[in-house]
Amino acid sequence: MKKLRTIILLLCALPLCFAGCQGETSDSFFAMDTYMSVKVYGSEQAVKDIRTKIETLDRLLSPSDGDSEIFRLNRDKTLALSDDTASLLQRSLQLCRETDGALDITLFPIVEEWGFISKEYRIPTRERLDKLLEQTGTDKVQLSGSQATLTGGARLDCGAVAKGYAADAAAEILRKEQVGAALLNLGGTVLAFGSKPDGSEWSVGLADPQDSASYFAVLRCRDKVVATSGGYERYFIGDDGKKYCHIIDPSTGMPADNHVTSVSVICADGTEADALSTALFVMGSEKAEAYYREHGVFDYVMLLDDGSVSASEGIIGSLQLTNGGTARRIDR
Ligand code: FAD
Ligand code: MG
Repeated sequence: MKKLRTIILLLCALPLCFAGCQGETSDSFFAMDTYMSVKVYGSEQAVKDIRTKIETLDRLLSPSDGDSEIFRLNRDKTLALSDDTASLLQRSLQLCRETDGALDITLFPIVEEWGFISKEYRIPTRERLDKLLEQTGTDKVQLSGSQATLTGGARLDCGAVAKGYAADAAAEILRKEQVGAALLNLGGTVLAFGSKPDGSEWSVGLADPQDSASYFAVLRCRDKVVATSGGYERYFIGDDGKKYCHIIDPSTGMPADNHVTSVSVICADGTEADALSTALFVMGSEKAEAYYREHGVFDYVMLLDDGSVSASEGIIGSLQLTNGGTARRIDR
């Protein structure tokens, strides 16, 4: 019996040992309402720590989990936050201001009204949206050290920035573990850490909205986060036959509808990449270009609904469109 148990234990241990011998350890799990995959070369510990960290962030930041800090802050209007939630909030508020409100983490009442939380979708009336818009705006959020206070009926939604923050937290763990190569896909926010084990750049596929199992472009990069916002995964078709996506224009309360299909932002800072992918989606093509020229410490790729692609000067040379076409170059 003891011998049989030893054989079973050895068999169970084999896949991990094999992976370890190869120097590659992988994990995949569901967090933040999406599928996440982690591949790390040279540290099993980093894989475990990254999963623990992301699951912790999920419990802190979920807008619908009654125990999360965001849920309790939205309910009680004032709360002493953990370091992670406070630092995400502080950075997000700064990015909301920098994007002139295209990113707005106080949109929860509107996101909820459209049914994107309950999945019971509906088209709100203009009057209802105007009423709810009175509750939004980052001027209704005060953060003093770790103490956060919401006024005027404001409620927070960190969905546009949480995966980018998780990518930054993962990068910190990888640096601590002295990992040289890792590739994480946190539900469309990709951390291409270091270089591939052979020293070459990572190839990151940008999802094809027509078929999310394939790519419309492949981007070569190292030590970057590639965050993508698209209107093609979370959306519903209204009774009027129109498509309504989950990314909301904070100035109207309506889903952004400006011919943008997807935006990928490439940047060393994951929180910024995630925030800006949402913000540039809201801005649309022209305003996004102007924003890039003014603030361009990042790069981006924008796919429009006519199939055309534009890419900023810093990455256009590393971008390959799978249809063999060329992207329009955006200079600073
Ligand atoms: P992004 O473009 O990065 O973000 C879009 C999301 O941000 C929208 O879905 C909306 O929530 C919000 N948003 C819309 N417009 C704006 C804007 N202009 N400015 C700022 N924010 C905006 N959803 C569920 O249905 N069920 C869950 O159990 C659930 N759990 C979650 C747990 C966590 C910890 C977090 C952070 C989110 C969770 N969500 C859940 C929400 C869901 O994951 C978000 O819709 C998701 O984060 C969208 O990310 P994205 O990368 O697709 O799009
Ligand atoms: Mg985002």
